[in-house]
Amino acid sequence: MTDCIFCKIITGDIPSTNVFRDEQVTAFRDLNPAAPTHILIVPNKHIDSVNMLTNDDEQLIGHLFTTAKQIAAQEGIAEDGYRLIINTNANAGQTVFHIHLHLLGGASMQHPMG
Ligand code: 5GP
Ligand code: ZN
Repeated sequence: MTDCIFCKIITGDIPSTNVFRDEQVTAFRDLNPAAPTHILIVPNKHIDSVNMLTNDDEQLIGHLFTTAKQIAAQEGIAEDGYRLIINTNANAGQTVFHIHLHLLGGASMQHPMG
């Protein structure tokens, strides 16, 4: 996807502060952090949203979560706790249509879900 900002971050065409990279996923710090630690974990392969997932993506999505767990430990927020979010389409406020897992932590989150 040539017009996708996260694809451009993955290829290095747009600069980002990367915290992890392997053959399947890339993780980088959110440009406008909503918490002291706010990292986005994205598949290297372009997928618009959760709505576009297929059974073939199940291993990849599992890997997003085990990567999030590993990064939470690396960032020192695993013990205190963190929140993982995937927004899908307008009602959830998805703004970038390359599936991404938000990892938020570093402070107590008081706001309720929704
Ligand atoms: P969404 O609202 O789609 O769930 O989340 C998109 C996230 O991407 C937002 O938190 C936003 O701050 C972040 N973001 C948008 N553009 C960029 C960018 O160019 N670089 C980085 N690092 N984050 C971005
Ligand atoms: Zn993309």
